[in-house]
Amino acid sequence: MIRFSFSSLRVRLLLLVLIANLPALGLMLYSALEQRQAAAVEVQETALRLARLASSDQGRLIAGARQLLIVLAELSEVQRGSPQCNGLFSKLLQQYPLYANLGVAARNGDIFCSALPQSRVFSAADRSWFQRAIQTKDFAIGDYQIGRITGKPTVNFGYPILDDRGRIKAVVFSALDLAWLNHLAAEAQLPEGSTFTVTDQNGVILAHYPESERWVGKSLPASSALEAMLTQRVGVAEAASLEGVPSLFGFTPFVGSKEGGDVYVSIGIPKEAAFAEVNRMLARNLFGLGLVSLLALVVAWVGSDLFVLRRIDALLRAIKRLATGDLTARAGPSYGEGELGILSQTFDEMAGSLQAYTTQLEYQATHDALTGLPNGALLGDHLRQAVRHGERERKPQALLVIDLDRFKEINNTLGHSQGDVILREVGRRIRDMLRKSDTVARVVGDKYAALLPETGIEGAVVIAKKILKGLETPFSIEGLALDVEASIGIVVYPDHGEEADLLIQRGDVAMYQAKEAPNGYAVYASERDQHSPRRLTLMGELRHAIETGQMTLYYQPKLSLQTRRISGVEALVRWRHPERGVIPPAEFIVPAERTGLIRPLTLWVIQAALLQCRSWRKEGIEFPVSVNLSARNLFDPQLPDQVGNLLRTHGVPACGIEMEITESAIMADPARAMEILSRLRAMGIALSIDDFGTGYSSLGYLKKLRVDELKIDKSFVGDMVSDENDAMIVRSIIDLGHNLGLKVVAEGVEDEETWNRLAHLGCDTIQGYYISRPIPAEELIRWLRETAPKKGWGIGKPATIKEMS
Ligand code: C2E
Ligand code: CA
Ligand code: CA
Repeated sequence: MIRFSFSSLRVRLLLLVLIANLPALGLMLYSALEQRQAAAVEVQETALRLARLASSDQGRLIAGARQLLIVLAELSEVQRGSPQCNGLFSKLLQQYPLYANLGVAARNGDIFCSALPQSRVFSAADRSWFQRAIQTKDFAIGDYQIGRITGKPTVNFGYPILDDRGRIKAVVFSALDLAWLNHLAAEAQLPEGSTFTVTDQNGVILAHYPESERWVGKSLPASSALEAMLTQRVGVAEAASLEGVPSLFGFTPFVGSKEGGDVYVSIGIPKEAAFAEVNRMLARNLFGLGLVSLLALVVAWVGSDLFVLRRIDALLRAIKRLATGDLTARAGPSYGEGELGILSQTFDEMAGSLQAYTTQLEYQATHDALTGLPNGALLGDHLRQAVRHGERERKPQALLVIDLDRFKEINNTLGHSQGDVILREVGRRIRDMLRKSDTVARVVGDKYAALLPETGIEGAVVIAKKILKGLETPFSIEGLALDVEASIGIVVYPDHGEEADLLIQRGDVAMYQAKEAPNGYAVYASERDQHSPRRLTLMGELRHAIETGQMTLYYQPKLSLQTRRISGVEALVRWRHPERGVIPPAEFIVPAERTGLIRPLTLWVIQAALLQCRSWRKEGIEFPVSVNLSARNLFDPQLPDQVGNLLRTHGVPACGIEMEITESAIMADPARAMEILSRLRAMGIALSIDDFGTGYSSLGYLKKLRVDELKIDKSFVGDMVSDENDAMIVRSIIDLGHNLGLKVVAEGVEDEETWNRLAHLGCDTIQGYYISRPIPAEELIRWLRETAPKKGWGIGKPATIKEMS
């Protein structure tokens, strides 16, 4: 979900909509402002209009006043200056309601006649109308002022009364009541709350509408409005009214009031009233705009959801899923038009190719390119899953480690491309023999593995046999039928380990155990595990054992069938462990090869054999001692020189020693083996090919190596009496050896019948428990002196060896 924050797209869209409304709002406010200004102008115009109206009214009034005063001046009571005129004037006043008073002032200014009664005799001597009338001897208009008799704001008019000689006798006057302004104001139909004020140039209020009585005579408070009025004369101003209501004022001088100082008329209209219409319109417009904006917001909200956000949301969700590693995340399937559509589609295409690419990489990372089978990594994964499953369901899980025997030799003999053909074919065969739910993997090189879910030891053994059987059918390579054998190590969860890594390691151990097993498979046996902690400490001790003389040699005699003499012995190493007793070579030769300790060990064996050889020679026993070389020794270019040095140091001729090398050790790297062996051979040391028949040696190498002897592997010899196949092989090897001019030795002779068969086949030499087990040197001497003679066996070559008594 997208959170509602300022930075969210939706909020931004809504803001845009609001911003789009701003010009309308601006326009509205601007026009409202203009309308206010127009309203203000209108107020001013109203004021001017009223002032002018008042002005023109005043004109009429002045004319009327003049007429009245001329008539009054002619009255006899007035001419006589009789004080009885009071009664007459008050009667007249009732007929002229516009006037506040009528009266006559004497030449000295004393008012002796007045329509309104006087509390005392007032003087008009200082009044402008009076002075002007005296000066001009004509009709005169006074200033607006508060009447002394009436107490009302009035404009007085004066008219002189002349005697016969044209001298002024008195001045008749009328006081025009400014209350007429009220009528004017009423007629003007000003908005409610409006005021109408007449002031003189000092700001004294001469007339005020409404509530005239309350204000007349008072001064306007000093304000900016008053100042504006006095300086500008015509204009508008904003100020509080006398009642304190914020108002707009329009002002103008009264027409015809110029003589003797200005009189201003000002119209005050409450702002509220003046702007009422404008405000109402603004409010209506704002409300309308608000409504439209709200509508636009709703539309934008819904629309953005429908047209933009929903798709962006989908895209965003897909991107987030992709970012967390979900490569199936897509924004589609529907994209729609426009940029968003293109964006979503492009994203999906990108995610698609990323997924395809990753799938391919994953496949490559988890599969073997040659066979297309899962590789070791994927097998490890599946095994871990199987272990977890086994834990949950309490079911066993089996792992078979399948290793081809002597595949290196096939590779070296036939070439790598043919080797690859076989590896592919082996993978295919194993795969075809197993169920879909089983994992068949090529781990490395010629090593395969099969994971069998929910399978116990017995089931695994059945499958292992089935695989071995399936591989028995020869492989056809360029018309050749080739036998490929395999060894299968079996481990089962939880019997042999409860963790995948341990099972894999023990599977390897079981596979090596299988290499030594007669039937080609082996279930993991901890007591034979070279990697078990016991074995590891053993390896740690081996170097020390070599240096401190824990190693010893046993010797096994070889008998020449033709001469019935002991023609030599094979030296076989033993480890006399101080705590564990005698340890057979099967337990430490392979680990010694892996750790490199085989080099000092071999040198020790050669040296010990030479020492023994020399001591026997001293006693007149002259037969060669055979020592075994391991494959690793054949990679050691220093070996021939070291052997040469040892021969010289111990004064033993090269014919005193022979060397046995297994067929597979040579074929693992024929070129290098050739080099080392040729140098040994050149020194005069006889070479024997051990375990012959189990490997794939080529005749070409046999010839080039100029070996002296073939040793038929004991696996053929042991069964040759019962197994015709083995007998055939033994016979072939004997013939082959003889054809090549080599001597042939059969090892593993355990009974007389085998002896006879071998003798019949023309075998040169035999070796085996039937003659003697490997025994220590001291025992061998006794055996040579006592046992052998009893059986009729001599020692050494008859011509060169002294007979023992
Ligand atoms: P190998 O070279 O084939 O030695 C012959 C093995 O067969 C010896 O086992 C011997 O005791 C056994 N043997 C002899 N006669 C018979 C028989 O009639 N029947 C049966 N079943 N077995 C018989 P060992 O001494 O345990 O040696 C095993 C292997 O250890 C040897 O096989 C050899 O490959 C290796 N080895 C022994 N000593 C050395 C050594 O000093 N250096 C190296 N590099 N390898 C050695
Ligand atoms: Ca041997
Ligand atoms: Ca052998």
